[in-house]
Amino acid sequence: MKKTLIKNGTLVTAADTFQADLLIVDGRIAAIGSALPAEGADTVDAAGLYVLPGGIDVHTHLALPFGGTVSSDDFYTGHKAAAFGGTTFHIDFAMQVKGESLHSAVERWNAKASDKAVIDYGYHVGVTDLNEAVLAEIPTLATEGIPSLKLFLAYKNNLQVDDATFFKVLLQAGDNGMLTMVHAENGDVIDILVKDALAKGRLTPEWHALTRPDWAEGEATHRAAAMAAMAGAPLYVVHVTCAKAVDAIAAARAAGQPVMGETCVQYFHFSIDNLRQPDGAKWVCSPPVRTAADQVALWQAVRANHLQHVSTDHCPFFMDGTKDLIYEGQPVRIAGKELGAGDFSKVPNGVPAIENRMPMLWATGVNTGKISLNRLVELCCTNPARIFGLYPQKGTLAVGADADVVLWDPKANHVFSAATHHMRTDYDIYEGWAAPAMPVKVFRRGELLVDGAEWHGRPGSGRWTPRKAHGEVL
Ligand SMILES: [Zn+2]
Repeated sequence: MKKTLIKNGTLVTAADTFQADLLIVDGRIAAIGSALPAEGADTVDAAGLYVLPGGIDVHTHLALPFGGTVSSDDFYTGHKAAAFGGTTFHIDFAMQVKGESLHSAVERWNAKASDKAVIDYGYHVGVTDLNEAVLAEIPTLATEGIPSLKLFLAYKNNLQVDDATFFKVLLQAGDNGMLTMVHAENGDVIDILVKDALAKGRLTPEWHALTRPDWAEGEATHRAAAMAAMAGAPLYVVHVTCAKAVDAIAAARAAGQPVMGETCVQYFHFSIDNLRQPDGAKWVCSPPVRTAADQVALWQAVRANHLQHVSTDHCPFFMDGTKDLIYEGQPVRIAGKELGAGDFSKVPNGVPAIENRMPMLWATGVNTGKISLNRLVELCCTNPARIFGLYPQKGTLAVGADADVVLWDPKANHVFSAATHHMRTDYDIYEGWAAPAMPVKVFRRGELLVDGAEWHGRPGSGRWTPRKAHGEVL
């Protein structure tokens, strides 16, 4: 029996903040109380530290083939970076390729993940090619621990599905206690705008944003919510970036529809001005970074519970994939953003953020008074566990829960830099940004992964974790 006693810490859940000891026995939280006995336990003094549940990020793309290359974090490096940022569980997207069964996609993702994983993880399945066999296959995913699907209303001639396909999946998912997730941008309009911009020689990264206007996201979000209402099925809108999309979700919710959504941390902090910089390709992601007014709308949306989760859409690429990066002493070189030099439409879409998410939300949300620390826990840990069928095994500090526990130092005074972060990419969108609060010890099922600057994570020790269908609608 392995016991760890975390003493004198300040525990923070979505509901409460209180002083207590926390006892871990064999990977689970065995007791929470005052003056818990220490016999037989490794004791950790958490005086002056906050004790939070491990973070959950339901939107990541590790080792994802995209635009002629692959996202540069795999299930080892991405998990290491996640842990250093306080995240101990994530859900990746197993993407169906045309003609493939959904289970085949899951098997391909298992092959990427199982030997490398350090934190625990699950999958959503991305449906890109629906036929009768695939439709019939959907309910079997739910019983096998994958109760969520994702569809794209953008990326024409690639991932995009039409409204009929989207509606059929909503019906099937809703009938089987599954949650449909949507990338809501109008891909038909965007396709025309991109071609027009390229024809006119408008090639710089800011045109990535100008060809994906907020109306394209607002329209698609409204359409998706309307179709969910007609299907009588719950909907979860991924990576909401703008006021128009928030308004569509808020209106659906006000009408009693089971529509939920997330934003990603980077959309609070960056705008089209970043795309106008000489290194603007660093911020090319879809939907694009927007305006200062949209950032205000997103803060309001997480305060007002129009949005229930803050994820990352972590999908890193090298800024200069023609040069080696040294990672754990080994040279690594993966083609990246340079593929789009001179043509915004060829820049691989995505940003690194899995390590920055909780520290930056703490720095710019909690420390400015926009959200409470409890709300940060709710947004980053508890709500995603409830919505995606993991609660209370994960997402909170409770007796019987997995001991995914993170000790945070609110006076860490960290500064993010590509020179010191753990994401396998050569830049950090938060380069030079201060993170006053940082994790100092990170436990995953009671196993110490991060101890200050030290890394103890073992590849293959992270577990794929089945999730329950009929997740909560928050
Ligand atoms: Zn994504």
